[in-house]
Amino acid sequence: MSDSVKKGGISVETEHMFPVIKKWLYSEKDIFLREIVSNAVDAVTKLKRLSSLGEASVEDEQTNPFRVTVSVDKESRTLTVKDNGIGMTEEEVERYICQIAISGALEFIQKYESETDKENSSDGNSKNGIIGHFGLGFYSAFMVSDTVEIVTKSYTGAPAVHWTCDDEGNYEMTPSDKEDRGTSVIMHISEEESDFLEESRLRDILEKYCLFMPVEIYFVNENKAPASDEKTAEDGKKEEKEAEKPINDTHPLWLKNASECTDQEYIDFYHKVFRDYREPLFWIHLNADYPLNFKGILYFPKLNHEYESIEGQVKLYYNQVFVADNIKEVIPEYLLMLKGVLDCPELPLNVSRSYLQNDAYVSRISAHIVKKTADKLNSLCKTDREKYNKVWPDIKTFVEYACIRDRKFYDRVKDSLLFLKTDGTCVTLNEYTEAAKDKNEKTVYYTTDKALQAQYISLFAAQGIEVVEFNQPIDTQFVSSIENYGGQDAVKFSRVDADTSLLKNETAQETDEETKNRLTELFRKASGNEKLNVAFEALKDETVPAVLIIKEESRRFEDMMRMYSMGMDTGSFPAEQTLHINTSASLIRKIISLSDSKEEEDKVNRLASYIYKLSVLAQRKLTSEELSSFLNDTYGLLDQL
Ligand code: ADP
Repeated sequence: MSDSVKKGGISVETEHMFPVIKKWLYSEKDIFLREIVSNAVDAVTKLKRLSSLGEASVEDEQTNPFRVTVSVDKESRTLTVKDNGIGMTEEEVERYICQIAISGALEFIQKYESETDKENSSDGNSKNGIIGHFGLGFYSAFMVSDTVEIVTKSYTGAPAVHWTCDDEGNYEMTPSDKEDRGTSVIMHISEEESDFLEESRLRDILEKYCLFMPVEIYFVNENKAPASDEKTAEDGKKEEKEAEKPINDTHPLWLKNASECTDQEYIDFYHKVFRDYREPLFWIHLNADYPLNFKGILYFPKLNHEYESIEGQVKLYYNQVFVADNIKEVIPEYLLMLKGVLDCPELPLNVSRSYLQNDAYVSRISAHIVKKTADKLNSLCKTDREKYNKVWPDIKTFVEYACIRDRKFYDRVKDSLLFLKTDGTCVTLNEYTEAAKDKNEKTVYYTTDKALQAQYISLFAAQGIEVVEFNQPIDTQFVSSIENYGGQDAVKFSRVDADTSLLKNETAQETDEETKNRLTELFRKASGNEKLNVAFEALKDETVPAVLIIKEESRRFEDMMRMYSMGMDTGSFPAEQTLHINTSASLIRKIISLSDSKEEEDKVNRLASYIYKLSVLAQRKLTSEELSSFLNDTYGLLDQL
C-alpha cells in the first residue's frame, strides 16, 4: 500500500444503510459483541486450520497463545476486541469490510423491515434477533459506536493497516505500525450507549453469547486499580490468576462423547449453564451424525412442587456461539420444559423465524429429539426401574402432556408409562393388566380422591383388584387420549365409583321383583328424589348396604362441561347416578324383613334415609343442607341408644 491516506464511502447507498444498521440491524443491541467476538474467534480458528494444513506457519504459539481479549476503557470510552488470528491485508479490508454485501444490502433493508413487522405481529418474539443473514455482522458495531477502528496485520506478513470509519460510513485507511499478527477492533462507544462501557453489563453479554466459544476469551477492565501494595503476595497472585482465567469454556461437555462424561460432569455443567442448583433428574446426550449433524445435552429438571412454572430453557448454539433460547421450531412445544443446549452448525447463525418454520432440516432435528427423549424414558424404565419409579412423579406431567399432544410420542413410550397405585407403588399398564388378568383384562380402576373414595377403594381391594391414583386434572385427559389412541379393544379406565360388576357375588340368590319394587319406592322416598335410579346387586361384601354409582362416560361429560363452563352451574348436565342396593348386606336384609310390618314403617324409613345419606357421603362431599340433615339423623339415632 502506498503511504497515502485512502478515503472512501462504504457504498453508494451508505446514506440508506447506516441509519438502518444503527437502529434496526438487530432488535437486541447486545448482539454486536457476539458478532465482533465471533469474528475474532473465527479469525483464530481459520489460522489454526491453515496451520494444521501446513499453509501457514505459526511459530509463536508458546509465547503468544491463541486468544481473544475484550478490553474496556471507560475513560477513553473504548471497547476493544483483539485477536491474534489470521488478520487482514489492505485488500482484504477493502473486500471484506468496505464492500459490505452491497448487492444484498438494499434488498436486506426492505426485506428486514417487512419481516420484523410480520414477526412482531405473529408472536412478538423477534427479540431474539433472528433476522435474515446478510453478512453484516461486523457492522453491528455501529449500533453502539460513533467511530469504529480496525488495526490489523495479516499472518502473511503483509503491511499492517489502520481503518477508521465514522457512523455515516465514511472511512479512512492508513498504514499502521502494528507488528504482531491479528486484528483489533476498537469501538468508540456513543454517548447514548454508555451502558456498554460497564464491566458488569459486558460480562453478562459475554457470558450469554460467548460462554462456549472455541477460543479462549479474556476480559480486561483497563481502568481497574492495580493491586494495592498492602496486599500480601498471596492476594496478588490470586488476582493475577483470576485475570488470567478465560471467561469461556472452549470444550463444552456436549462436544465430548457420552461415554467419556461422568455424572458429576453433567451435573456441574447443568449448574453452571442454568444456575439451577438442584440436581437434574436425568439427561440425554445427543450426538446426531450426518445428515443431521448436531450435538447437545437435554436435562429433565427437578421441580420443587407441582405448581412451579414448567418453562424450561433450551439454548441453541451455532458452532459454540449462542444464538437464542427456546426456539419453538426446533424443540417441540411439549418438550419445552426441558433444559439443555443444542449445537446445530447446519443452521445459519442468523436465521429468520419463517426460515425455521419451513425448514425440513429443523423438523428432522425436532423429530430426532422426540425420539431420543422417548428412548431415554424406555431405557430408564427397562434398565433402572428403581430410579425411574423415583423420578416418575416429577416427569409424569410432562410425559402425559407430551402423550396427549403427540400420538407418535405416545406410541414410542406407551410401555414405559407408569401409574401410581393406592399402595404407593408404580406399575406400567402391562403390569396392571397382567396382575388383574384373572378378574378383568381390559379395565383399569382409578380413584381421583383417595380419601373421599376410600370406601370404594376398599371394596376393590377386598377383591384383590388394584386401584391407581389420579391426582391431577391432566390425568383424566391423558387416559381419554390413551383410550382414543387404542381403538376398539384398548384398555378402558373406570373410576372406582363407576361400576360394581367386579364386586358382584355371582352365586347369591336373585331378589324377587316385588321386594325390588318395594325397596325402590322406599329409597326414592328416602332420597327425596322421585326419579332416583335404583338397582339391585348382591355384592361379595356384606357390610356396605348401598353404593352410589355414576357411569364413567356420564361423569366425564359432566367434568368436561364443568371445565368448559369455568366453575359455573352445570346443573343442566347432571351425571347419571344409580343407587346400587347390596342385597347381600345384613342391613338391607333387615330392612326387607322389617318392611312387611306396619309398626316398623318409621324405623324402616329412617334406616333407608340414613343408608342413602351414607352412600352419598361415601361418594362426594355433602352440601351444607345435606350435612345438617345427616347430623340430625345421627343425633336422633344416638338418642335411642
Ligand atoms: P461474516 O462474519 O458473516 O462474514 P462480518 O461482517 O462479520 O460478516 O465480517 C466480514 C468479514 O470480515 C469476515 O468474513 C472476515 O473475512 C473479515 N473479518 C471480520 N473480522 C475479522 C477479524 N477479527 N479478523 C480477520 N478477519 C475479519
